[in-house]
Amino acid sequence: MKYRVLGCSGGEAPGFRLPSFLVEERLLIDTGSVAMALEVTQQAGIDHILLTHSHLDHTGGLPHLADNILGTRSTPVQVHGIPPTLDGVRSNLLNDVLWPDFTRIPSSAFPTLVYRGVPEGVPFELAEFTITAIRVNHAVETVAYFVEMEGRTLLHVGDTGPTDAIWRHARGVPDLVGICIETTFPNRLQEIADYSGHLTPRSLEKELDKLDRDVPVYVYHLKPALRAEILAELKRVRRQALHVLEEGTLYRF
Ligand SMILES: [Zn+2]
Ligand SMILES: [Zn+2]
Repeated sequence: MKYRVLGCSGGEAPGFRLPSFLVEERLLIDTGSVAMALEVTQQAGIDHILLTHSHLDHTGGLPHLADNILGTRSTPVQVHGIPPTLDGVRSNLLNDVLWPDFTRIPSSAFPTLVYRGVPEGVPFELAEFTITAIRVNHAVETVAYFVEMEGRTLLHVGDTGPTDAIWRHARGVPDLVGICIETTFPNRLQEIADYSGHLTPRSLEKELDKLDRDVPVYVYHLKPALRAEILAELKRVRRQALHVLEEGTLYRF
């Protein structure tokens, strides 16, 4: 499974792009930096978008993507998320105030975007993928996605604090080949991390202990200003295969 990191930082600054991941060219997970990271023709090739939650660093590229692809496709792009996420986008982002409602442009019959609510805990098919959304623990309602293709499953975790359901679910996924997961703050900001529903290297290690085996782990969503401190602490996390995701890089799972 091709997994291209368009952006994976926990903040936006020169050289640091917001989370957005392109899987096999057609499926996008979160939209943070998609509009600035991909050529417009590649943006128009995305058929499905999975949103982990409504926060702006994960949804902020959607208005620009919609604007860029207007009139370039014969079918709408399907935007998938749990109902609270889609409600948040509909009410607060593409709400005809901050930006136009692209589910009615150019017309309600032939829109640029359509919203599709996803179930939690129940696998569903999306193009060549089987997706399972599992609730995590964040400041707003948020899910992680298990993405399976050709007998290989990737666990993509958006923002989360300490949580249990994803690890419970992972125990029943023998073909799990990788985990992409956030670590936003250094250990000295543990209290802020806990309060805001994020991880530090210390709490990441405790989370990974909940899994019954060693699976390659790819960390992202580091705050740009705190990056060096977080990286130093991640080196002390006792895991054989712990990596930090690199922006602009293509991974194969
Ligand atoms: Zn968030
Ligand atoms: Zn975030």
